[in-house]
Amino acid sequence: MVQPLVDGYGRVHRDLRISVTDRCNYRCTYCMPHEEMEWLPRHEVLTFEEIERVARLLVTRYGVRSVRLTGGEPTVRAHLPVLVAKLAALGVDLALTTNGASLRLLADDLAAAGLARINISCDSLDRQRFAQLTRRDDLARVLDGVEAAIEAGFDPVKLNVVVMRGVNDDEAVAFAAYGRDRGVTVRFIEFMPLDGDRDWSSDKVVPAAEILAAVDAAFPLEPVARGSEPAERWRYRDGQGEIGVIASVTQPFCASCDRIRLTADGRLRSCLFATEETDLRGLLRAGAGDDALAAAVEAAVAAKGAGHQIGQATFIRPRRSMSQIGG
Ligand code: SAM
Ligand code: SF4
Repeated sequence: MVQPLVDGYGRVHRDLRISVTDRCNYRCTYCMPHEEMEWLPRHEVLTFEEIERVARLLVTRYGVRSVRLTGGEPTVRAHLPVLVAKLAALGVDLALTTNGASLRLLADDLAAAGLARINISCDSLDRQRFAQLTRRDDLARVLDGVEAAIEAGFDPVKLNVVVMRGVNDDEAVAFAAYGRDRGVTVRFIEFMPLDGDRDWSSDKVVPAAEILAAVDAAFPLEPVARGSEPAERWRYRDGQGEIGVIASVTQPFCASCDRIRLTADGRLRSCLFATEETDLRGLLRAGAGDDALAAAVEAAVAAKGAGHQIGQATFIRPRRSMSQIGG
């Protein structure tokens, strides 16, 4: 029988994010550190069978209904469509967040394997700026990846844009125009203190309200009723699609958070900003049965905090950066 996975604040968790690798072919300034990263050794990364086992338990026992694959860069994990097929067979709403660089090669296989939705990260439409931000001169390849995703039939294709003060905050309208032209939903994300270089400061955060005002002035918007998702949605009054804003810093949505996260090395995190993790890999490899795994999951969720405290003296930055957690 399905039972809700509830924390101490009554929040029911139905959304699972799985990081399939900590590796990445980009080194975005707001995510990875400037120095070379040391990747996890292969044997420390969960196998597809281990990932499937955890996902199956969460789906069948707790009614988890959406799963998002992320990383590092998930498409650098060999045979990703094989994992997609295994998870799609669980009947969940299956999504992927990717930097888009490999979609021309992979989009059709991912769609055929049962991937339903795709988010592509792109933070500048200017070639030089994109190269500075990602440390790769790859804008054309990513935009071609967006086209490949559209051609493969993903609908909607979403574009994730992390907005940073003095870096790309002048591009909101250009992104909106691009999204309207290509039928892509742009989601503007506030910069969070999870960058590898620990260079984040509150003055680098561009409040989502400011982005909305800029887009609205160019292309008038109206709100769309909000569900449990973190993105606040707005549609263009002329019917040309919609945008989302994710105001994790200025308007935290912790009170309605329904997410848990599994890292590439098999740690369960109850929050992006959690400072504690639960080692599911150790249990899996020690031959734990489903009840033991479930008890560990329930304990981790029960201990979940009320929310992050960014901007307060009590805020503790997690040891891992975004690329090691999965966004
Ligand atoms: N490599 C994939 C990608 O870039 O889409 C998936 C992993 S990435 C860590 C997941 C998401 O986190 C991306 O949309 C990325 O832009 C976002 N992200 C990374 N660092 C961030 C930060 N410091 N603040 C807000 N979002 C961030
Ligand atoms: Fe890699 Fe994605 Fe982080 Fe960029 S945002 S460094 S593509 S994991």
